[in-house]
Amino acid sequence: MKKLIAFNWKMHPNKLKDVEGVLMAFDGVDIDLDTYEIAIAPPAVYLPLISSVFYELKADISLALQNCSWEHEGALTGELSAEMGKNFGIDYVIVGHSERRTYFGETDEMVNAKAKAVLGAGIMAPIICVGESLTIRNKGKAAIRQHIKKQVIGAMKNLTSDKVVTNKRVIFAYEPIWAIGTGKAATPEQAVEVIAYIKEVIEANYKLSGVRVLYGGSVNAKNIMEFVGQDAIDGALVGGASVDKKELKNILKKLHS
Ligand code: PEP
Repeated sequence: MKKLIAFNWKMHPNKLKDVEGVLMAFDGVDIDLDTYEIAIAPPAVYLPLISSVFYELKADISLALQNCSWEHEGALTGELSAEMGKNFGIDYVIVGHSERRTYFGETDEMVNAKAKAVLGAGIMAPIICVGESLTIRNKGKAAIRQHIKKQVIGAMKNLTSDKVVTNKRVIFAYEPIWAIGTGKAATPEQAVEVIAYIKEVIEANYKLSGVRVLYGGSVNAKNIMEFVGQDAIDGALVGGASVDKKELKNILKKLHS
């Protein structure tokens, strides 16, 4: 299966001209699309512009949402439904990012409901983020495993019985909180260890093999291949570096055919 490289722009940038500037990183790069699939999760207001720029550049890039509602439709000011995303041509939705869990109080139950909404809308896959805090990491391997298992099982609740989850339609991202936006990425060994454990939990509990698990946390042009080059790591979720035109261009060059 292809490795998925997903770019999470978070709430950046504020100016349209900066959006256009960053997008120019995609101009003239020949990505190895047999090996990699690229997805971009910008602030939703930029999606129409971004999709037309990619059309003009003939860039084969998937579109993603950073979040969605667990409801199908309704009087929910400020929310976006997965169906709206599907009808726009969205392929992926990031679900349960640690920033949403921390600042917006998202629980495992909400993450589970959102993953269900994404799959129910017919979107290719939710990208479900899990990861431990530094406090948990410092407690050791058993504490990390306990936390990760709780998040994975919480996110997957009743998903398999929906008959919509196949091994290709649910993706996890291991994003240790201490590595997000800090410039201190996990080591590839640390990432491989937890990712292997996530796959073990999914296989043991749901008999699903081949679920893709990405790594995210301070990935940049210099270290991306250290993660993506590992057999156990099925791609990367890149935040800050993906909204910096130069850094993004350098990342894309690493994925060159
Ligand atoms: C993220 O937002 O998912 C992320 C991993 O951020 P950063 O790459 O900036 O650490």
